[in-house]
Amino acid sequence: MSKCEIFVSGGTAEEQEAAIKTFLGLFPTVSVAVAEDLCLLGAPLMKCGIKSAVQQKTEVMRLIASRLELIPKHQAFSLLKCSLSAPKVIHLLRCCPSFEARDSLCEFDEVLRVSLESICNVRLDTTAWRQASLPVRCGGLGIRRVEELSLPAYLASIHATQGLVSRLLPHQGGVNVSDHVALWRYLSDDASPPLPESRNSQRAWDTPYCMAEQATLLHEAVDPTTKARLLASATPESGYWTHALPSSSIGNLLDDESFRIAVAIRLGAPASSDHRCRCGSDVTADGHHGLSCKFSAGRRPRHDCINDILRRALGSAGIPARTEPRGMHHENGTGPDGITTFPWTRGLCLAWDVTVVDTVARSYLEHTSVKAGAAADQAEAEKVLKYSFLTGRYEFAAVGFETFGSFGTSAKPFVNEIGKRISLQTGEIRSLEYLKQNISLAIQRGNAASIIGTVENVVSFNRK
Ligand SMILES: [Zn+2]
Repeated sequence: MSKCEIFVSGGTAEEQEAAIKTFLGLFPTVSVAVAEDLCLLGAPLMKCGIKSAVQQKTEVMRLIASRLELIPKHQAFSLLKCSLSAPKVIHLLRCCPSFEARDSLCEFDEVLRVSLESICNVRLDTTAWRQASLPVRCGGLGIRRVEELSLPAYLASIHATQGLVSRLLPHQGGVNVSDHVALWRYLSDDASPPLPESRNSQRAWDTPYCMAEQATLLHEAVDPTTKARLLASATPESGYWTHALPSSSIGNLLDDESFRIAVAIRLGAPASSDHRCRCGSDVTADGHHGLSCKFSAGRRPRHDCINDILRRALGSAGIPARTEPRGMHHENGTGPDGITTFPWTRGLCLAWDVTVVDTVARSYLEHTSVKAGAAADQAEAEKVLKYSFLTGRYEFAAVGFETFGSFGTSAKPFVNEIGKRISLQTGEIRSLEYLKQNISLAIQRGNAASIIGTVENVVSFNRK
């Protein structure tokens, strides 16, 4: 009995009091519950209890946020993204109409924003925070705003449980969600609701929101640099570094400074203060000059690092390869970055050449501000021309990447093929994912080293 609670629903206050009094006369150890505190399996049963339930979560989040500041930034971010931010409240969002306590959800989001700002050591203005709170596949950092997630989560949950609820309560006639769907349509710029078979998927309800927000950000972008950045950030490959398990033992941990710069570049937030580069040019706060500066300190190590990743990946796929091969040079001195020892396809060995070009370099901006990956594509086409002397002797792969993370049109199938072959060889189905994460991390480390390298005598490229 001490584990039981009593709650009286309906009737006047006097009638409720009388009912409780009678009940307690029979079972004195039962505790009396108030409507705000009524909850089942962690979710409030009454609408009046939603606000306090969200507030409790916010307090927990505040405490966690203060502790995240004590561990390496990249690890703190990963924990925040994968298990602490929206995942911490998703059960609540799905089980009750939490969007009716919008102010409390916004308060939770503000704790998230401040926490992300402090973890990344990056200033997040409204626009940067809007981008950061998009899913990674839409160009964000995947720290979702729960205020935005609440309605899709609830609608998906209602649809997923509708069948069971009507079997349990056959005479109740199910839950009427037409008002909620109408609100969803209003908030998603009059998008069509998902098809009936996918209405139990949260992503199906959430995606139109994200697409609308992404389109708005792009529409609001006034300069080509911002457009190019947003387009590149929304390519799937550009965000692979955010999915990597940040462990130093597998070489995936970004040091605090590289992590800060990676976030700042993706969100267009200040990466440094204005200063004079050691090449003599002015560096603005976005730090972009460093990415294409002639000294670009990260370029060479990044190039070598990616070649090394490809060589090792090919080795894991059972195709031994070597970088900087001798005797392969054209009379003008150009030679590929690497070749395989055994045939790659149609009896031909593979020769590859890696290039990483700057998405926002002035020469590429005209194209990258319209189409993501345009700079990498252009660089790949140039490589194909340059290495035409290998035709017939080698299968040549031009492997182009961009500083903002996009892969070139030829790099994508090439990397996919290596990933597929590693999976076949090792049985590890996530090989391709890991390979893309490694490349993505190498690009970000190179960017950080390039930006840091604009200041004399501070050069760092941490391979691990
Ligand atoms: Zn410079």
